[in-house]
Amino acid sequence: MPAYDPDNIFAKILRGELPCHKVYEDDKALGFLDIMPRAPGHALVLPKAPARNILDVSPDDLAHVMKVAQKVAQAGMQVFRADGVTVQQFNEAAGGQVVFHIHVHVIPRKQGVPLKPPATVKEAPEVLADQARQLAAALR
Ligand code: AMP
Repeated sequence: MPAYDPDNIFAKILRGELPCHKVYEDDKALGFLDIMPRAPGHALVLPKAPARNILDVSPDDLAHVMKVAQKVAQAGMQVFRADGVTVQQFNEAAGGQVVFHIHVHVIPRKQGVPLKPPATVKEAPEVLADQARQLAAALR
């Protein structure tokens, strides 16, 4: 497996070099909205410590990220009046991974509404900002 690349886009977000629509932060994890959501409220949760994916992440960070993902899922159900939640996590290109800092997708779902294909439509920043505000408030 290739080494962790400290210049990947999520590493830049973690260092504050690129913006994000933040929904959650603690000392070990960050959550923000996906800029190309597959459904309204599509969030990503990642550990702050560098790790490429499930193959090299520390078990403690993995467990913490899943605890945060659960909170984000519960908040997403409420804020987006969802009927369910899809949680996804991809590893290496062959496993569907595009950004190589481990992250968990938390996607609120409405009954009968299919997911948009990955990385297709960029959501308007003002829509993401409003959704992030609501999700962050529900997570406080
Ligand atoms: P994957 O590595 O397959 O889990 O996919 C990476 C995800 O990151 C995709 O859903 C992209 O839409 C999302 N993404 C890429 N760049 C950004 C960004 N700057 N901010 C938020 N989400 C992003």
